[in-house]
Parts: sequence; structure tokens; C-alpha cells
Amino acid sequence: MQKEMLIQKSKELLWLPFTQMQDYEADPLVIEKGEGVMLYDTEGKSYYDGYSSLWLNVHGHKKKELDDAIKAQLDKVAHTTLLGAANRPAIELAERLVQLTPEKLKRVFYSDSGAEAVEIGLKIAFQYWRNKGFHEKTKFVTVTNGYHGDTVGAISVGAVDIFHTTYKPLMFDSYKIPFPTIYRNEVVDHKEIRDQSLYELEKVLSGNGQEIAAVIMEGMVQGAGGMHIMPEGYLKGVERLCKEYDVLLIVDEVATGFGRTGKMFAVEHEEVEPDIMMIAKGITGGYLPIAATMTTEKIYDAFYADYTELKTFFHGHSYTGNQLGCAVALANLDIFEKDHVIEDVEKKAAFVREQLNSLKSLSHVGDIRQLGLMIGIELVADKQSKQPFPWTKRVGYQTTLKMRELGMLSRPLGDTIVFMPPYASSYEDLKAMIAIMEQAIMEVT
Ligand code: PLP
Repeated sequence: MQKEMLIQKSKELLWLPFTQMQDYEADPLVIEKGEGVMLYDTEGKSYYDGYSSLWLNVHGHKKKELDDAIKAQLDKVAHTTLLGAANRPAIELAERLVQLTPEKLKRVFYSDSGAEAVEIGLKIAFQYWRNKGFHEKTKFVTVTNGYHGDTVGAISVGAVDIFHTTYKPLMFDSYKIPFPTIYRNEVVDHKEIRDQSLYELEKVLSGNGQEIAAVIMEGMVQGAGGMHIMPEGYLKGVERLCKEYDVLLIVDEVATGFGRTGKMFAVEHEEVEPDIMMIAKGITGGYLPIAATMTTEKIYDAFYADYTELKTFFHGHSYTGNQLGCAVALANLDIFEKDHVIEDVEKKAAFVREQLNSLKSLSHVGDIRQLGLMIGIELVADKQSKQPFPWTKRVGYQTTLKMRELGMLSRPLGDTIVFMPPYASSYEDLKAMIAIMEQAIMEVT
């Protein structure tokens, strides 16, 4: 197809996810290729991939080792079902994941997206108690502003209003506790904010523990909820309370896993060992849709029985455990080891923190929140009062459009600009991306 036609046809034929197509029609974009941290559109214009192609890309695009792993696997087989039949890359990847994740997690249940990994985690938690005879333990505790994906189960335990309000009639109820948000909190002391939130959790667990299956939250950072970082000791406190009240702890590491926060998994910041943990996004270096829900052997055992007891976990999709995906995930993990990627992320995160100082003085930058290479820059109408811009002005969206014009791609979370560069970004790349964000913020606000 001629490149002029591609844009036209994209408007006529596609329906893009999380996209108001009226916006897309006004500013269409068709990406044709990528190389390293750069993406190129059909006109040949280049852009920094400032959001790692939606928080997934790790080692850059067209990474030779990853391309080769897929080609090598293609010479064997592209896909076979995992329903009742295992495959080599799925087994080898499971072994690596069990080694990498917290000690307690021993079983790997594959899926195709973060949201599906979450659905699986919820279903496993629910059925775990049922299989053990605790039929009343059916509810979940969730935190305000959490995000776990867009499927019906995932939105039921999520709480980003703008995504979820429409679907309320489809959703199941869960207990909501306040996330210990620091920015705009009347309380200034982080420890007090943490303890207040833990107190709220304890109130729910002590009053209703007998009907609660699990507590679910993201690992250390609330991503899509606006890049809010948990105060020190909060996640550890949640783990302690879950144990005390015999409730499972589910940690969603879909966004934070695979080095994004400066540790392989965010739970490592506080040595937390969840009972169930979801991983996706960076697992294949941003190449193919693989996700996984990791569980303890204790949970697995509750499903292991004679078939006629009907304790089987009834879940699985056509492409579950895709061989190409597992093969590229293995190559991704090899690069992590060989190139000491985690240490590199820590260094780059420190560099970014220092560089971002220049944005702090801008009159509409309210807050900069960062853990590792997971960064949110919140724009506000009034810095002193922390007054947001009217949401209908779409300042965050306008800023990312300006960034695009200046050669960098990202997607905002309301008026919070997301900066999640591929770890492969050089120091020069990082500096250039920060300069683009600075210019765009100055021009738009
Ligand atoms: N969980 C978290 C914490 C996420 O950030 C996301 C996506 O951003 C998801 C789940 C959903 O993942 P996916 O988009 O792969 O379904």
C-alpha cells in the first residue's frame, strides 16, 4: 500500500484502543519501523520512544539477540497449545521466572496480557479458598486509584474513575481502602500517611476478614493512576496484615516488573513475598504478548486433585504459552544478565533524577514522581495551591502532542506526563528527551 494511503486507511478502517478516534483523525500517526530507542513514521519522521511503546520496551527496537531468538524458534515451531501439552520454551522460561521472582513463588500460569494475568490472579484467589472449603471468602480489597487492566474483572478491582465509571453496572463490588498518596495530602509526614492507610486496611480486614479472599495492589508505584509511589514500609505493612488476617496478597507487577523501578521486581524494594504476582509488559522485552501469574506451591496444591472433584483451574486461551513469545522472553532475560541491565537502570535513573531538576522550576510543574525509570510529571494550574487544570483543557494531551511535534512519543495520564524510556536509552538520549519535555511543557502551559 502506498504510504499516502496508509494514513487514510487507518482512519477508515481502524478503531484504536483507549483512543477517541476524533482525536486520532485530527492527528493521525502510522509507525513504520523502529531502531534502538527511535521510532519512524511513514513520512520518515523520527521520534524518541519516550514511553517504551506503552511501558514495555526494554533493550530498544530491532535488538539483534531478540530478533534472532524469534527466528531460531520459527525454525522449530511458532505455536502449539498449552492446554494439556507443555513446550520447551515455556518450561525453560518458567524455570527462570521461578528463580528470579520471590522465593515463595513456585508456579507459573501463562497468559497473553497484563489484564488477563490479573483476571487469572483474581480467579485463582477466589477458587483457592473455595477449593479449601471456605466458600464465603469471595471479596477483594483494592486501593483507590489502582489500575489493573481493562477487562471486567480487572476494572472491578481497579479504581481510575475516568476508565471505570462507564462500566460500573458490569462490575463486582470490592472493599476500597485509601492509597497513601503523598502529593495533595494534608498530612506531610510520609510515615503518618502510611500508617493511616494501613490502619484503614486493618479496619477492613479485622471487620470482614472472613469474607475476604485477597488484597490486590500494584508493586510500589501506582502506574496508570498517575505514577504515585508508596511511602516506605507501606507494602511491607500490607504483607504483615494479610498474614495476620489470613488473606492472600496479590501484587500486580505488570508495569513495575523487569527492572522498571530499579529492581528486577518492585517487591524487592521491601522484600515482600506476595502469594500471587502478575508479570507482563517487559517480560519479552516489548516484543510479543506473554504474561504470567505466579503463585505459591500452597495455592497450587489446593487445585491438585482427582478430576472428578472439579478443583481444576478452568482458564486458558488459544495462544497461552506461545512458543515464539517464551523464546524471546528467554533471550530478553539473557540480556538482563549479560549486560547487567538492572545496575544500568539504577545509574540512568540517578542521572534522570538530576536532569529533571531543571523542570522543577517551571511554573506549571506541580510534582515529579520517580522510582527507577518510571516517572510522572504532574502539570498543575497553580503550583502553590496544587490546583489542577480543568480536565477539559486536556493540558497533558496537548503537551504530548507538542512533544510529538518535537520528536518524542508518550501518552499522558490526565495532566501527568509519562516518561518511561527504554533502558537502552543512552545518557544523550535521556538528556534529549528531557529537553523535549521541558520545551513542550513551556510552550503548552
Ligand atoms: N496492571 C497494571 C499495573 C498495568 O499498568 C497494566 C497496563 O498498563 C495492566 C495491568 C494491564 O496490562 P495489559 O495492557 O497488558 O492488559
